[in-house]
Amino acid sequence: MKILKIDHLGIAVNSLEEGSKFWTDVMGLKLHGSETVAEQKVTTAFFPVGESEVELLVSTSPDGPIAKFIEKKGAGFQHVAFLVENIEEALAELKEKGVALIDQTPRIGAGGCKIAFLHPKATGGVLVEISQRG
Ligand code: ZN
Repeated sequence: MKILKIDHLGIAVNSLEEGSKFWTDVMGLKLHGSETVAEQKVTTAFFPVGESEVELLVSTSPDGPIAKFIEKKGAGFQHVAFLVENIEEALAELKEKGVALIDQTPRIGAGGCKIAFLHPKATGGVLVEISQRG
């Protein structure tokens, strides 16, 4: 697969207001926009950093994946996303290599991107997302 860059780092927070303070007030990042992805029960807020972004994730429901993550591990780093040239090709290659996937086929994430998650058990414990711009 062809990886173009680290697209974003996903960080789980309890609230966008509280969770963004460090990134804006201390690190000087600027909020670029936020979006709710109803299907994932998550609101995301993007803070560009050069060619990449910090993505804050807040659950919109107590049974959403981010709420469950925070319940288990606490707020903090949640996933790293790599921008790939062709997500279907990347998924086919990962399947061929026997990599455990959370998403067998791409779904639509924030910004209309095609995204898919690899299972952390296949990556040494890191939740890895691959994404392709829509
Ligand atoms: Zn992400």
